Amino acid sequence: MENIKEAWSGILEYLRNQDDISEVAFNMWITCIEPCRIEENRVVVLVHTDFQRSIIAGQYTQKIKDAFLQVLGIPFDLEIQCKEKPEPTPAVATPQPDLPAADFPAAENLFGKKSSDYEYSFENFVVGPSNKFAHAASQAVASKPAGSYNPLFIYGGSGLGKTHLLYAICNEIRRNSPQMKILYTKGEFMTNELVEAIRDKCPEEFRAKYRQVDLLLIDDIQFIAGKVGFQEEFFHTFEALWQANKQIVLTSDRPPREIATLEERLRTRFEMGLLADIQPPDLETRIAIIKRKAQLLDITIGNDVAEYIATQLKSNVRQLEGAVRRMQAQCMLEGEAPSIMTAQAAIRDIKNDSQPVPITVERIINEVARTMSVSPEDIRSNKHSANISSARQVAEYVVRNITNLPMKAIGEEFGGRDHSTVVYAIQKVEDRMAVNPSFKGLVNDIIKNISES
Ligand code: ADP
Ligand code: MG
Repeated sequence: MENIKEAWSGILEYLRNQDDISEVAFNMWITCIEPCRIEENRVVVLVHTDFQRSIIAGQYTQKIKDAFLQVLGIPFDLEIQCKEKPEPTPAVATPQPDLPAADFPAAENLFGKKSSDYEYSFENFVVGPSNKFAHAASQAVASKPAGSYNPLFIYGGSGLGKTHLLYAICNEIRRNSPQMKILYTKGEFMTNELVEAIRDKCPEEFRAKYRQVDLLLIDDIQFIAGKVGFQEEFFHTFEALWQANKQIVLTSDRPPREIATLEERLRTRFEMGLLADIQPPDLETRIAIIKRKAQLLDITIGNDVAEYIATQLKSNVRQLEGAVRRMQAQCMLEGEAPSIMTAQAAIRDIKNDSQPVPITVERIINEVARTMSVSPEDIRSNKHSANISSARQVAEYVVRNITNLPMKAIGEEFGGRDHSTVVYAIQKVEDRMAVNPSFKGLVNDIIKNISES
């Protein structure tokens, strides 16, 4: 019988060239497999963690068996063994500790004010043509969770009220059905949580936490773009909840089809409920929002002033709110009633404030690392394994693309590499993007997530 170590390189080569295994998936799930031995008609391989074992067994067994058949010409069974101690899996499901019914930040924390007079509620959401569909869908879900619209997927640009609606749903359901287990989280937080769970070898806890809820709300789900391991895990969570008739609500800055590196089956799931978009509000709605925010903050803003602000700040409700807050501060500190003059000053401040926060190399490295399942230290290191080199090249490309830093400076940021290495890395990423659409999607998703967060 052939030496399995020798055969393995051929198997890897074969798997690497399969179109249905993305490069990221290959690096994440295939390269961690260690060939062990061949016994009669069975191949034994090793992986490090039980979590890897369960994913590989579920997703890749057949593909690996096919590879053996193609490369060695003999059909083999596959046995995947795990190096770590198997996790104790109780024969019967142990009862999970109860989650607090409201495991999401209270409205007070968000505003520094009592939630009763200023909260993300449906009453405080001003409805206009640009958001009425998303508003109505949210109300429908709040009044009948897991009714017709599951999942509800709300998408739209920044500062247009997605989080507000998510909280409104949450608050309403909590009020009507206090016994329901509600979990609010953010896409970015949830992906980090899974990375940590895998590192600490407790993916079961992660699973249990998310699978026992009655209502799962995930804000900014676009952050799962490109995170292959996370998407695999999340798919099963989604299925489990959905099958059990639990309501899921998601928000995103873009519709599912524009998240390039979203697994097809997740995209289908996201689209099978209700997709509701929010557009920037028209002038009339902007004026109404200003008036409503003023009322909530206890100041009176005249029609002319409200209209003036609304014509100056058009694309983002958060900015309208900021202007009203500044005017309120002005009123309190200097006793000045809101006027066109104070509005002008407030708008000037807002426009200055909303200069984009400079994006740091560190932030880029962190996001690339998280997406490509390596550590930020690996990216800055001299390690040459395929997945780390690939992540490092992508990080260099993204730094160049977003910051336009000179090549020399980029080299310095990446552990003192010289200018020509950076040029080569960037060229390599460009070449790969040109021929590999899924890789291109991955890089573009990373750039979008960094530039729009
Ligand atoms: P997003 O999550 O879409 O980025 P948020 O929900 O955080 O936006 O909204 C930003 C701010 O604008 C919040 O304070 C929210 O209350 C407010 N806001 C957005 N849309 C409306 C609306 N239609 N009526 C009242 N306030 C709104
Ligand atoms: Mg938001």
